[in-house]
Formats: sequence, structure tokens, C-alpha cells
Amino acid sequence: MTVELISVGTEILLGNIVNTNAAYLAEKIAALGLSCYHQSAVGDNEERLEDALRLALSRSDIVILSGGLGPTKDDLTKEVTAKVFGKKLVEDAHTKERIQAYFDRIHTKNKITSNNWKQALTPEGAVVVDNHNGTAPGLILKGENGKTAILLPGPPNEIKPMFERDIAPYLNRLQPEGIYSKMVKVCSVGESRAETMVADIMDAQTNPTLAPYAKTGEVHFRVTAKAKDEETANALMEPMVRELYARFGDKIYTTKEHVTLEEAIVELLKEKGMTVTTAESCTGGLLAGRIMNVAGASAVYQEGYITYSNRAKEKLLGVSEETLRTYGAVSAETAAQMAEGAAKAAEADAALAVTGIAGPGGGSSEKPVGLVYVGCFVKGRVRTEEFIFTGNREKNRDYAVVRALTVLREELICL
Ligand code: ATP
Ligand code: MG
Repeated sequence: MTVELISVGTEILLGNIVNTNAAYLAEKIAALGLSCYHQSAVGDNEERLEDALRLALSRSDIVILSGGLGPTKDDLTKEVTAKVFGKKLVEDAHTKERIQAYFDRIHTKNKITSNNWKQALTPEGAVVVDNHNGTAPGLILKGENGKTAILLPGPPNEIKPMFERDIAPYLNRLQPEGIYSKMVKVCSVGESRAETMVADIMDAQTNPTLAPYAKTGEVHFRVTAKAKDEETANALMEPMVRELYARFGDKIYTTKEHVTLEEAIVELLKEKGMTVTTAESCTGGLLAGRIMNVAGASAVYQEGYITYSNRAKEKLLGVSEETLRTYGAVSAETAAQMAEGAAKAAEADAALAVTGIAGPGGGSSEKPVGLVYVGCFVKGRVRTEEFIFTGNREKNRDYAVVRALTVLREELICL
């Protein structure tokens, strides 16, 4: 089965917005095992949109259009698609109710304008897909010739959840065998080592397959199975997931698609009833920021420190002048005192400290750019780690954050 994408919007043609929807959809479609041979972008112009849609329907089984479902006059996707499929637009009572409810909930001060009701019009016979993050519903329209148009809203925060929730399962059901996958996320192992550890599985297995994705300081493994239904797919995937556990053990921090490393760590801290603080030099708040990405981080994090200068390290964390003079600000000794001092100052059970040379300047033969020390204090014990990263300033700081989190996680799971 072939799927084709049409991204609708003059803003895309002018380069005012980047067509991230097309990249997102293309990746998802490939992951579902469907073929996509054509993509196009077209402006908010009735004639040209009609041409693009007719051409797409002539050569592909399913055409997914994104954008142009809004309430304004330049939003034409639904009108043009209805015309091409020879369908009238009729009011959909269910969508009308949902629009009313959405405004009652979100736009307490804004009145519904009459053009909002345009979004309750749907082509006769179309399947309406509820929009849980906006007012324009998605639409699935099947023509007599067996060709299908799927209309999705343009805003990424609307199209993505709608695709995940309703469109991907719909596309999967159309195929005799659907594609199902599970994610296994690993930290504390380098990318090439992780790949070597599973090379035999990757070579030997065709269903399910195993694919590694290198992320900054992490490796994510996608296990993908082709099967007639989810249950059969799960039965195929389970032994492979178990095998990954046998090889990576507690270096696997989650098997949930959406869980991040920082979420897993905040969860661990909560489970253990512990609080954490951070003391950062070269990462300047990035580490604290990562922890605060997690909703509910306030249960484990109360305060933290950015101590860029030596004076700040002394003043806020109690790092001794002698340590700084003898070993330097970028040293295991300083990292240890930063962690200890931060835990004490914040009265936290755990503390992570980072000090290093992010670059591009400031390096020497003894202490090169990319040298980073992490100090990790957990319940009275301090561990330090030395890393040498080889990226640019931005990469080095990103890696330092992930490595610091990884060290903390290692300490926590030992408790
Ligand atoms: P709205 O109800 O907001 O008008 P819509 O379904 O009519 O939604 P558009 O008007 O085409 O969609 O786009 C609305 C916004 O969604 C754009 O301004 C842009 O921010 C985002 N958007 C639209 N298409 C894309 C795309 N292909 N890639 C990334 N973002 C997009
Ligand atoms: Mg619009």
C-alpha cells in the first residue's frame, strides 16, 4: 500500500515555517511498513491544491494532507477534498458539540466566532477523528475508487497526538500484517559497545528486528515486529526484550517509549523518598534544567547552584581555597567538594556537581577541552568520575549533563 503526503500552507512554500509535519509523518509511515514515494507542499490556493490532490490520488492509495483545516478563509483543505471526492459538506453534530466544549474549557474569555462553526462541517460519509488538542477534527474520506484521503490539522501539537492515537492504528488495520514496536532505552554504555553487544541479534533476527539509535549519552533500541495483531506481535517481541535485559541488565532505564532519563531518575528519587540538588560550573544550569523538564520534579528538587567562578564555588558550596589552588577548579577534588557542599547547603540527600572545560578556549595539554569531572554525593558518600568529551562547546555540555545523570542513577539503583 502506498501513502503520499501533501503539506498545505503558503507559509511552508515561503520558508516561513519548516515542514516538520512531513518529516514526522514520513518517519511514522515508514515505521508502519508503508511505502511513500511522493511528498509535496502546496500553498493555500484552491486550484493548485485540487491539482496536487488529484495527482496524488492518481498514483497513491492513501493521501495524507496536513494543514488548512482551521476556521479562516485560507483554510481550504476540507472544501477542496470534498469537491474532489464529489461530496457535500454537512454539519456534524458531534464535532459541533466538541467545539462548544473546547471553547467552554479553554477560551473562557473568548467568544466563539461564527467562522469557528466552519470546523463542524464535514464531507458526507467521512470518518471524523476527534481532536483532543484543538478544534479542527481529522477526517478520513474513502472514495468509490478505493482511494483514501486523510485530513489532519497543521499544528504539530495537534497532528502528532492525533496520528499516534487514531491514524497509526487505522493504517495498521488496513494491512494484512501490521508493524508494532517496543523501545528499550539504555544508559551507562557507549554507542559502539552497545551495538557490538547485540550485533549477533541484529544479524540473525528478521522478525522481530532490532535497531539501535544513538542519542546523546544514551542508546535506544527499537524492537519491531510484523504480525497480524498486537498480541501476536508482543509474543514475538517479548523474548528479544528479555534477551536485552539479560545483556544490559539495570543499564536499561525504561522500556516505555515516552519516558526520558530524567523522568526515570526523578521516579527513582521519589521511590526512595530522596531529594537532590545540583552544583554546576561548565553546564551553567543545564543539568538543573533537565531535572526540571520533569513535571512534578519539585517533589525531589528544591534548590541548586550555578557556581561558575572559583569565588562562587567557595562562597556557595564551601569548596576550600586550598583545593582550588592545589588541584584547580576542574578536578575530581573540586567536583567532590562541590557535591558535598551543595548537599549540605541545600540539605539534600543527593547532589550532582559538574566542573569542566567546555571549550573552545581554556584547555591545556594537561587539562584539554572536553575534560569534565562529575561529583556525585549520595547519603554521605561521594563518587567522582572523569570524562573527556570530544565535541564542540554545546555537545560537551550536553554530554556532561547526561553523564552526570547517569552517574546519579547508578548510585541510586545500588541503594
Ligand atoms: P489552524 O486551526 O491553526 O489554522 P490548520 O489545520 O488550518 O490549523 P494551518 O493553518 O495550515 O493548519 O497551520 C497552522 C500552524 O500549524 C502553522 O502556522 C504552523 O505553525 C503549523 N504548521 C502547519 N503546517 C505545518 C507543517 N507542515 N510543519 C510544521 N508546522 C506546521
Ligand atoms: Mg489555518
